[in-house]
Amino acid sequence: MSGDDVSRILEQIEKDRVKFIRLQFTDIIGMAKNVAIPAKQAEKALTDGISFDGSSIQGFARIEESDMVLKPDISTYRILPWRPDTMRAARFICDIYTPKGKPFEGDPRYILRKQVEEAAKMGYIFNTGPELEFFLFRQEDGKPSLELQDTGGYFDLAPTDLAEDVRRDIIIALTDMGFDIEASHHEVAESQHEIDFKYGDALMTADNVITFKFATKTIALQRGLHASFMAKPIFGINGSGMHTNCSLSTMDGQNAFYDPAAPLQLSDIAMKFIAGILKHVKAITRVANPTINSYKRLVPGYEAPVYIGWSASNRTALVRVPAPRGRSTRVELRSPDPTCNPYLTFAAILAAGLDGIKNDLEPPKSADKNIFHMTAGQRKDEGIDTLPGSLFESNQFLMADPLICNALGSHIVENLNLIAEIEWDSFRTAVTDWETKRYLATY
Ligand code: GLU
Ligand code: MG
Ligand code: MG
Repeated sequence: MSGDDVSRILEQIEKDRVKFIRLQFTDIIGMAKNVAIPAKQAEKALTDGISFDGSSIQGFARIEESDMVLKPDISTYRILPWRPDTMRAARFICDIYTPKGKPFEGDPRYILRKQVEEAAKMGYIFNTGPELEFFLFRQEDGKPSLELQDTGGYFDLAPTDLAEDVRRDIIIALTDMGFDIEASHHEVAESQHEIDFKYGDALMTADNVITFKFATKTIALQRGLHASFMAKPIFGINGSGMHTNCSLSTMDGQNAFYDPAAPLQLSDIAMKFIAGILKHVKAITRVANPTINSYKRLVPGYEAPVYIGWSASNRTALVRVPAPRGRSTRVELRSPDPTCNPYLTFAAILAAGLDGIKNDLEPPKSADKNIFHMTAGQRKDEGIDTLPGSLFESNQFLMADPLICNALGSHIVENLNLIAEIEWDSFRTAVTDWETKRYLATY
């Protein structure tokens, strides 16, 4: 960062009458973290970075190497619109460095940046367009309850859709923070919503996912609601996905997935990218669906994917090719859910897609019939496999996939493995309501 950049941003901070600056970063499990500094410390933060103790952050440093340095990315300067005007707060998203000045291998943003650089070496920019779904629950006694806020359904209008005002406020806040909001609607399940923002390069959209989640939670809370991005909060109705639209563009801005002369108008590059995703999707699932609960969403009957296949015509396919072509040509991976760490998820998807391109992989034939209506035998004949059924399984697939492990780096992989073991042990030893209902009276 040049001295000019620093002076320019310092002037902006002053002009905006910002009193506090939040230095924001993301831990391995995708939680936004921040340290606040008074605005007068901004110059130091922008020139030398700010040291912090990383040892208490999940999956970060060991005690003996706990000092970390946060360095703000000046392009991410945004005022937090919900803070009072007299006590303005702004944030920077930061990159994390070791005290020796090296990028920290446990920083998810660095892992994505490395993969994006890999794509750039091959002449591509990776674009993603994540579609986040979430539920609004009522807060009771200051805590989130399971009380749904409305009984609306897909694309419903007020008065069923009581959340119209909340959605509007969320959209205003996000727009103030620089988001280009494309659409918003009530989702299929009661009290479930989706707000879509414009696609962009993967690093920016991963930053946007993190901002989107905490902005949405903050605005909902102001209206006595809890916005939950949990994958499957309620049994028997749809869960929440984070469909991820993916495309590559060339350095001169052409969409590399579009070829007007090719079958389906999908370029060779697009086909290989799809093949790469399908080859590695079981390992990708560990990062795209990182909670025990994520796997309760990936079941038949709720518009979430279960089987491994792709299609340009079938909405139920794991990898779908939405109808638009030309600049909007893209493939949509439907498995990720909004509990994922977007940096790691996009890094894993990109590594898989690039593997497809480097090794000329060919996708299996497209699954254009409704896979959910096939029998197990038909699926076997068509060679259609299923996604991992639990965190335990997906973690094993990750450990067995050197390409995805390499993309995530050993620091992250070791921690993901540890987290999965702890989560799985805690879950498998818990006695659930389902078991007591099923067995207590009978035995
Ligand atoms: N909520 C569904 C899911 O779990 C997706 C619904 C849709 O197609 O937007 O992925
Ligand atoms: Mg949706
Ligand atoms: Mg979608």
